[in-house]
Amino acid sequence: MQAQPRGSLYIGGAYVQGQGDDLPVLYPYDGSRIALLQEASADQVAQACAVAAQAQPEWAALAPVERGRVLLRAAAIIRERAEELARLETLDTGKPIQETRVADWPSGADALEFFGGLAATLTGSHIPLGQDWAYTVRIPLGVCAGIGAWNYPSQIACWKAAPALIMGNAMVFKPSEETPLGALKLAEILTDAGLPPGIFNVVQGRGAVGAALTTDPNVAKVSLTGSVPTGRRVYTAAAQGMRHVTMELGGKSPLIVFEDASLEDAVSAAILANFYSSGQICSNGTRVFVQRGIADAFLARLAARCADVRMGDPLDPETQHGPIINAAQADKIRAAIAAGQAQGARLVCGGPGQGPFIPPTVFADATDEMTITREEIFGPVMTVLTFDDEAEAIRRANATSFGLAAGVFTADLTRGHRVIAALQAGTAWINAYNLTPVQMPFGGVKSSGLGRENSAAAIEHYSQLKSVYVGMGPVEAPY
Ligand code: NDP
Repeated sequence: MQAQPRGSLYIGGAYVQGQGDDLPVLYPYDGSRIALLQEASADQVAQACAVAAQAQPEWAALAPVERGRVLLRAAAIIRERAEELARLETLDTGKPIQETRVADWPSGADALEFFGGLAATLTGSHIPLGQDWAYTVRIPLGVCAGIGAWNYPSQIACWKAAPALIMGNAMVFKPSEETPLGALKLAEILTDAGLPPGIFNVVQGRGAVGAALTTDPNVAKVSLTGSVPTGRRVYTAAAQGMRHVTMELGGKSPLIVFEDASLEDAVSAAILANFYSSGQICSNGTRVFVQRGIADAFLARLAARCADVRMGDPLDPETQHGPIINAAQADKIRAAIAAGQAQGARLVCGGPGQGPFIPPTVFADATDEMTITREEIFGPVMTVLTFDDEAEAIRRANATSFGLAAGVFTADLTRGHRVIAALQAGTAWINAYNLTPVQMPFGGVKSSGLGRENSAAAIEHYSQLKSVYVGMGPVEAPY
């Protein structure tokens, strides 16, 4: 087995064997077993949370810059070990190595650097009240549970760990059962960087382990990246203990292309917005609204460029499009493609593919009511819809319960801002798509989630305010 870790779990600064059911880890490209892990037992989940709770106060008592130095050292280690980590991520997820080299761990290192550097700027406020005064302090929440999806396992672990840790919290992280390896590496790297034992722990397991985490009495916050149905369950469970939540959930985002846009750039963006990571990206712009006058040219250029895609072995640096994470997800995507055809949409390119591969697939002549237009597919399936005017595009783009992301392509500066302002989305792009630098807050509105990751805004979601009133004079009582 090529990627067997030294243990399945990471608790108290060391690898630990899991005491639960077996968790085989398969390479999505050929189905070969690359590792065999064991889930955490219920007792081990509780133990990880207890260890985190015990370690957290001492970590929180450090000066923020001292915590920051640990994160900065971890980022440096990730960059030094970039190639080895990219390879592991490709084995874990099946994503092409040309993606994992530039996107996955590198964006995780960006987050560790960003929050490590931010440490020196963490302050509260001073409130003058005449003779008396008050001040606020940002204090940690305690133990935060992180639960990840399988599409960006290491990035998700870093995006959650970095703001949580810099604020003096401890974390217990559960990766997706499909991609359990990256979070273990992060734990190991953080230890090497000087993180005290118990501050970042990893438990493995299926949904039940995540559910146990969200109700553990030591857990003060749950940050989930996953689907809307799982988000509803986790939010409900977290509410019982009045726990804080961050919910990074699914989407069915619109990308609106006006006639005056650069056609080539808009086609490039539509490709990036739908087919990167074989389409397994939450913020994908899967409803591409193209203004009628350029719709035929847009589709022709898109089909021509998709015909050139290189699918194959994800470890081959030339490969641009990898396999789907597992057979069940591939079946789900194929069912969506079949529904699109059965409901009368026109298949412009792509289709069901073979085995773990589903090529870039584009539908045209679809309606807003079709399943492919309404439901998140989480695969390489784009639906192109035509529109006549701006108001119509906005109305149709917003006619969804999701609200994760949105994009607009136009050469008209004022229209770009006007349309983005009207779109119901937490994260939006003008003449770009799916770029998520750590400096920019990321997250959704409506059913797509709550809270924000990245940027200084994430600090608010991993801390709480304590207000302190300072009396400077005599205390007067009525009797
Ligand atoms: P799921 O919602 O199926 O799972 C997400 C995580 O939650 C997994 O670790 C899963 O464990 C765990 N889980 C499942 N049930 C429970 C439960 N009852 N309590 C606690 N944890 C639970 O999502 P996928 O992994 O299938 O990922 C795809 C989804 O994630 C898509 O909808 C996508 O849009 C969304 N996503 C959102 C992102 C964002 O930032 N907004 C980014 C990436 C993906 P296990 O897998 O082991 O069952």
